[in-house]
Amino acid sequence: MNERNAGKRIGAALLALAALTLCACDARGAQATPGAAAPTPAATASPTATPVLPPVPTTPPEALPTPTATPQPTASYIAQVVCTANEYVNIRAEASAGSEVLGKLPAGETAGVMSFEGNWACVAYGGITGYVSRDYVIRLSEPDIAVPSGGWALILVNKASLLPEGFSISTAGFGGGQVDARILDICKQMFADAKEDGVEFKLVDAYRSFETQSALYEQKVQSYIAKGKSREDAEIEAATITARPNTSEHQTGLALDIVTPSYTKRDHGFADTRAFKWLDANAANYGFIMRYAKGKADITGVIYEPWHWRFVGVEAAKAMKRSGQSLEEYLGAG
Ligand SMILES: [Zn+2]
Repeated sequence: MNERNAGKRIGAALLALAALTLCACDARGAQATPGAAAPTPAATASPTATPVLPPVPTTPPEALPTPTATPQPTASYIAQVVCTANEYVNIRAEASAGSEVLGKLPAGETAGVMSFEGNWACVAYGGITGYVSRDYVIRLSEPDIAVPSGGWALILVNKASLLPEGFSISTAGFGGGQVDARILDICKQMFADAKEDGVEFKLVDAYRSFETQSALYEQKVQSYIAKGKSREDAEIEAATITARPNTSEHQTGLALDIVTPSYTKRDHGFADTRAFKWLDANAANYGFIMRYAKGKADITGVIYEPWHWRFVGVEAAKAMKRSGQSLEEYLGAG
């Protein structure tokens, strides 16, 4: 029984290897003759630098932007995955944790997927074909519906850029809350696509009306007054935690606070969940950015919030993801 299985697996591995040879040739051909896709010199430089040699398990900073732009011959693969392990994930000969290690897929690198088999993905990377555990990779996903766009998606709301008095939008119910009706379908699609990858999101906060935001802020102010602060001091202190009315993105209906059913806290620990990693790898394709990134508090005025995702449209989201800019910087308002 075991031997037969092993035989099958070896057969499958040989088939996969044959497929890989084809893929690798295609990749080299594409690089040698920059024809149809007209790849840029920068885009072709890094794949040629790391093809057959055993990959080094470190990620130079310059290598980070390449995964999204990697000119992999996607036609040969059913999907691509990006490694989300801290350093690397082993590429194994079989879909089993005990099988021989053939190579490594470094953190942040992408690999083409030949097939998904339970909790394993059969991948091709750097001249090696083998299996990686799906616990350490995330499928790169794109919506198959159009992502809405328009100037409305780039509205800037912060302590210095207030929403106009009487600002209002049409909302639609989603995930137990409300979102701007224009992004309802893309929200549904993003949550559904993540679920297909075994990642479940829980929406804990989305649209808040002016009245709701005012009440939340006033509640916070009162809690400081109760501790003996003056109204003036209490307002300043409260604003560091709860946005003043008309300064919260949640009033736009374009911001989602996302956690998971098993990790419900809005804290930095969310960044270690697979849900966050899925968003980090894919949300820009759906037009969302992590609005309050690490190290940007002096520009955004808000601490690092890995759970707060803001719709800005796909073009802006991808540009900000590539450049690492905050919305303020992207809009030239930083
Ligand atoms: Zn939020």
